[in-house]
Parts: sequence; C-alpha cells; structure tokens
Amino acid sequence: MNFEFATATRIVFGEGAVRQVAPAARQMGRRALIVTGMTGAKSELLCSDLSAAGVSPCTFAVEGEPTLDLVRRGVEFARREQCDAVIALGGGSAIDGGKAIAALLNNSGELMDYLEVVGKGNPLQTAGAPFIAIPTTAGTGAEVTRNAVLGVPERQVKVSLRSPFLLPRLAVVDPELTLDLPPAVTASTGLDALTQLIEAYVSVRANPVTDGFCTQGIPLAGRSLRRAFHQGNDAEARRGMSLAALFSGLALANAGLGVVHGFAAPLGGRLHAPHGAICAAILPYAIEINLRALRARAPQSNALRRYQEVACMLTGRDHASAEDAIVWTRQICGELDIPPLKVYGVTAQDVPNLIPAAAKASSMKGNPLALTPGELQEVLTRSLEGSDKGRVMSDE
Ligand SMILES: [Zn+2]
Repeated sequence: MNFEFATATRIVFGEGAVRQVAPAARQMGRRALIVTGMTGAKSELLCSDLSAAGVSPCTFAVEGEPTLDLVRRGVEFARREQCDAVIALGGGSAIDGGKAIAALLNNSGELMDYLEVVGKGNPLQTAGAPFIAIPTTAGTGAEVTRNAVLGVPERQVKVSLRSPFLLPRLAVVDPELTLDLPPAVTASTGLDALTQLIEAYVSVRANPVTDGFCTQGIPLAGRSLRRAFHQGNDAEARRGMSLAALFSGLALANAGLGVVHGFAAPLGGRLHAPHGAICAAILPYAIEINLRALRARAPQSNALRRYQEVACMLTGRDHASAEDAIVWTRQICGELDIPPLKVYGVTAQDVPNLIPAAAKASSMKGNPLALTPGELQEVLTRSLEGSDKGRVMSDE
C-alpha cells in the first residue's frame, strides 16, 4: 500500500472561527486582496477585522464561476494594489478564483503556461502569495484542495490549474457563515459534498486516511442535509454539513473522484447550472451502472462492499443493500428539488459529444472500474430524464 496525503497547512473549524482570520492574516502580509462572492455583510465584517489588526483590505468580486479572464484581471488588480496576501470569502467560485490569483501573483508566466488541457500544463515554479480560504457554503471543499477550476467560455470547457502550491496556508471553516444560505444553494452544494464523499470512498485511489474522512462524512451528510435544507437556521445541521464538506475536500484531493465528476467537467463548461445540481442529477444513475458493471466484470472488487457500506451509512440501517444507496440518493434529489439535466437544456443529441470528453476527464480516473462508452451513455441519458421520486426499478 502506497499513498500520500496533502492538505492546507492549517485548518480552523468552529462557530465564530472567522474572527481568527485577521490575526492570522497579520502574520502573512500588510495588504490583502479579498476575493468575494455575493457575501455582503460578511465581507464587511471581515474587512473591518482586518483593518483593526493592521491589514489593509481591498476587495475583488467574483460573480459566477471564475474564468481565465477574471483571474488575469484579479492578478493585475492585486499587483497594482501591491497586495502581499490573498483571502477568499465565498463559495467554491470565490475560493478557486482566489487560489488562482494568489498562485499567479508570485509566478511570472502567463496563466496559459500553467493550465492543463487548453494550455502548456507547465508546473508552477514557486509558491503563490499566502492564501486564506473561508467557505461560506458547505459544498465544494475547495478550501483544502490543490486545484482551481476555471471556465474557458470561448471553448465551452472548464479546466483546472493544479499544483501543490495551490493548497491554502489557512482554511477557516465557520458553520455560522452558512446559516443564511437559501435552500436551493444548500441543496446543490450539500449534494456536491455528498457526491464527493461517495466517489472518493469507492475510488481506486482511496486510502486509509481518506476512508476515515468518508466514513465520518457520509453518515454526517446523510443525517444533516435534509434538516439544513428544510430548517436553514438549524445550527447542528449546518455544523454537520460544514464538516461533511470539509471532509469531502480532504478526501477528493487525495483519493480522486469518479464518473459523476467525469461528466460534471464537460457539462459544467456548457451549462449554466450549479456544479452540485449537475452532480446530484447524475449520482443515482452512476451508482446503479457502476454496480451493474462491477458485478459483471469485477465481482471481486471491494467497491461492491463499499457501495453497500455507503447504503448503510446513508440509511442508518445495518442491513441495507447496495441498491438502497440508489433509492436513497434518488429520493433526496426529489425532496431537495434537484431537476433532471434536461431542465438545463441538455438533449439526447448532445450525449454522443459528451462521452469522449467525460471519458478523458481527470476525475474519471478514480472510478472503481472503466465504464464502456455504452455504459457512459446510459448514465448520462438516464440523468437527462430523471425518475419518479424513489421509484424502485422492477429489475433490481
Ligand atoms: Zn464536486
């Protein structure tokens, strides 16, 4: 057994933890670029904390998912303002934008030099500016991952800037920052975290360290997600989801993902849909078709036992079958108003084009076995249409 595990230098978790950012930032720089999403009052409070601690803030807003152009503008702005540290406060978009800006601030090349797929894919030469990540959603786990997902609108793709240098110097996870998330955002981000935990747990690259995070995180998300969705101010449910999201990032950054995220990469480049909603719409069918393919071609794979464990963790029952994971994920998509992919405009005609792109996506490498083009097509076609809430197929 060989594995490695890398994460943010320091992780601080807890209600009110955001107040620890300013004293920590003071040790990293004097002028901080604050990369924000739609965070309003939260960023005002952070900026006043920073000013009081002797760190002068200047803000840069990321609206929607970050693009190459946005990162270039952010780097220019940060250089002009002579920023020596970067703090991102927001969802996965703000954090990924902030990560990329911090990295480029200290590397002299062009962004394209360092990008996979569309660029030269050169490694970053040196550590970026000190970077602090503060998630305000409970979903992506981007505060502890080493890649930044960036959109290239003219090519309708999303690509990653990837380097160990992208790991934040400090990740501050404060569940109180998520109390006011609207239900739709709670649903899509929370289901992204759950998908990441399940995919990392059955990944061919799973290791004992990531297994620990997944076996803690999956039941936590299973218990907390409905409550956080229906009762947004439930502090315990929000704490559970913040922890589950953090664990999902710790796991995926070190164990990889699978077919759901393999499809999320090319779909995300084409659709205006939340990443987590795309993942959630695919998840039940990915489990179903992975199970069928494993039984047919890899009956000894321990992913079969792992899917059964996932079902037990989600349902809270000791004797759940692997199929119960399909039923449970379908039901929660129904309850949390996750639409089938056709709602975002994907049609059956788009499917053939998406198969090769998904097959070569980096996330696909963790899938418990290689799916055939026909199986990939089936996963996507079923996700377009969705199904009745919790319907159990008669042939299962
Ligand atoms: Zn994801």
